[in-house]
Amino acid sequence: MRAVRLTQAGRPLQEADVDRPEIGASDVLIRVAASGICHSDEHYRAGISRIDRLPVTLGHEIAGWIEKVGGDIKHVTRGDRVCVHYLAHCGSCEFCVRGLEQFCRTGEMIGKHRDGGYAEFVKVPGTNAFVLPDEIPFEIGAIMMCSSATALHALNKARLKPGESIAIFGFGGLGFSALQLARAFECDQIYVVEINPAKLASAKMLGAVPIDATKGDPVEQIDHATNGKGVDVSLELIGSAKTMRQAVQCLGALGRAALVGLTAESMSLSPYTELINKEVEIIGVSDHLAADLPTLIEFARSGKLRFPPNALRFVDLDAEQINASLDAFRNSIDHIRTVIKVASEV
Ligand SMILES: [Zn+2]
Ligand SMILES: [Zn+2]
Repeated sequence: MRAVRLTQAGRPLQEADVDRPEIGASDVLIRVAASGICHSDEHYRAGISRIDRLPVTLGHEIAGWIEKVGGDIKHVTRGDRVCVHYLAHCGSCEFCVRGLEQFCRTGEMIGKHRDGGYAEFVKVPGTNAFVLPDEIPFEIGAIMMCSSATALHALNKARLKPGESIAIFGFGGLGFSALQLARAFECDQIYVVEINPAKLASAKMLGAVPIDATKGDPVEQIDHATNGKGVDVSLELIGSAKTMRQAVQCLGALGRAALVGLTAESMSLSPYTELINKEVEIIGVSDHLAADLPTLIEFARSGKLRFPPNALRFVDLDAEQINASLDAFRNSIDHIRTVIKVASEV
């Protein structure tokens, strides 16, 4: 079968002819229909995120049809449409049995630690295959399994409730999903903090109150907009100590700040006035869980989570086209997602 693989960090991905994977009793083989090209794939190719075992077929945002089913797998059969949870895990360790598989010590990310979806077929553990309802196109089923799933996990970790307000710091791919999912949670006012005018305009179009951080302290702007009450939940999706601090400072009493962006910087806070007095919580968010996915799939099925057709671009399973899409991440600021159309029918 054809696959597009990372053979050496810092080098373009290469096309390869590899054997179709053999599956075990607990696996399924998926004929890939669509595979999302993610910003982290660019980091793997560049060597910013190191991968120890190469070559590997990249691609962790996968949707397709079940081609073969291992003997132990009962929830899917050949021909079923599925999307893939990218974290392969042992299923039996102290974390896995509690449904916290992102801490599994032997966990492997599909498309990083083991071969992923930039290929005609991919082998995944059967428990990682989730039935994709007919209403959700394969390309959406693929791209929602990464940033949208993490945005939903962040909202779950922050315990966002109907009627609560939320401030979203950063309106990239995560923020785009977080805004729609927050609305699906029936939250009250949504504030989006950004410096990019196009992103602020897009947030406003989706019903949020845009907070332009170039026009003054966003904490003061949110304070003003909420009549001094502050927000119930904030999401930091940028990865900067400055915005993390603002995400805490804009909270009202009993507020929860979910920090998703990555940074090695330190953050300082005034414990009495900013934490203790208001009993606010700061919550770290890493990735997402299989347990988040049924809700995510239902939100996409019912149209509460949408990706407008002009937000998608398609390429073929072709090394040159995929490398060009990865190059484009370096200077892109738009919401357009690129999807590899691997196959369009069984
Ligand atoms: Zn991704
Ligand atoms: Zn485990």
